[in-house]
Amino acid sequence: MTEKEKKINPLDVAMRQVDIAAERLKLDPGIGEKIKKTKRELIVHFPVKMDDGSVEIFTGYRVQHNVTRGPGKGGVRYHPDVDLDEVRALAMWMTWKAAVVNIPFGGAKGGVQCNPKSMSPRELENMTRRYTWEISMMIGPDQDIPAPDVYTNPQVMAWIMDTYSILKGYTVHGVVTGKPLELGGSLGRFEATGKGVFITAQEAARHLNIPIEGARVVVQGCGNVGGIAAQYFDRAGAKVIAISDSSGGIYNKKGLDISAVLDCKKKYSCVITPEAKMGEEIKNEELLELDCDFLIPSALENQITHKNVSKIKTKVIAEGANGPTTPEADQILFGRGIFVVPDILANAGGVTVSYFEWVQNLQELLWSEEEISDRLTRILKRSFAEVLNISQREKVDMRTAALMLGIGRVAEATKLRGIYP
Ligand code: NAD
Repeated sequence: MTEKEKKINPLDVAMRQVDIAAERLKLDPGIGEKIKKTKRELIVHFPVKMDDGSVEIFTGYRVQHNVTRGPGKGGVRYHPDVDLDEVRALAMWMTWKAAVVNIPFGGAKGGVQCNPKSMSPRELENMTRRYTWEISMMIGPDQDIPAPDVYTNPQVMAWIMDTYSILKGYTVHGVVTGKPLELGGSLGRFEATGKGVFITAQEAARHLNIPIEGARVVVQGCGNVGGIAAQYFDRAGAKVIAISDSSGGIYNKKGLDISAVLDCKKKYSCVITPEAKMGEEIKNEELLELDCDFLIPSALENQITHKNVSKIKTKVIAEGANGPTTPEADQILFGRGIFVVPDILANAGGVTVSYFEWVQNLQELLWSEEEISDRLTRILKRSFAEVLNISQREKVDMRTAALMLGIGRVAEATKLRGIYP
């Protein structure tokens, strides 16, 4: 069945990507099968006391896709659409991502099916603490280290860290990353993913000879990743002509005042506000089809599909989000000469600085912002060059090249460890 005939399941997308890369790598079929399977999956149904005195039952997940190269690593998502297949796909992408940037982590992911926008801070805290307790046998600094993802933030990480520490009887900084600075968080972690999207897009621009100054940039999603990526482009002299969130977007072909848009987003949780009336309103579907130089999808999966790929008018796509493009759309983009910096490279700045945070926590060190920024930039530039090199040598698109690099490293580690017993 093709993606045209059914609702797109992110796990199907992730599996097809592995098949494409595995064929190119001529992977041993046994190893290929092993790395497609998730190692551990936990589903929990748990009660939470709500503000009105009622009790609501939530469903949560934690999945470790692969821990061959190191402990599981991956975010926690709070969203109504969270389900097991989505968490599996996101965990798998984390495995390849950590391997692409060559840091010693495996891949994991978690989430709770909920609508965080309709919950009070106290309800969110109750839900987070109980979810942490439910998955506590699976997480830990040596086992699996959660981090923020869609609709979770440093405060949620603080609650996870506190609950886990209470269970252990001592403070365990290294159980999560993306914590507030006051609780062992790392300088540069909050900006890391958006900054990494910018660094890798800049490398693509250098390769393609596109000047960043004056370039037209369109950003879907105005959260941690999209908002910060927009800021970096803006500071570098590019024109962010459109940006959106779940309620819609704003567009101004002369370029938006990004600091004002971000201030409004902070104040009203929405980019479309009276104060941000510096652009016209635009629907999310239209935003993706705007004529631009850089398109930065930074919201959710399956945004560029067979339905809209022929209408995409950009030179470069740098994927802030995980899984925003389907394999069918990938092929068409490649054929049309649109350069894609794939998610497992473009948004790898987050996991890279999470790794720095974890290292600092385990060694009780504090690195300077400059040190972190230098290390991040070096790792991302090196990884971009490695992926570009494979793409040119093998004559494949950048996603296949990145998957070949990541999956190749995981397969090699699997061979070296051997199959027990
Ligand atoms: P976030 O919660 O901070 O922001 C998400 C943003 O997307 C919000 O502005 C929200 O309004 C918007 N959004 C939701 N649905 C939308 C839609 N249909 N159309 C347009 N906008 C929509 O989340 P985030 O951390 O920025 O994560 C965004 C993406 O980046 C996700 O795919 C996530 O997995 C990925 N990612 C995040 C990190 C990280 O460090 N936070 C790292 C790697 C990848």
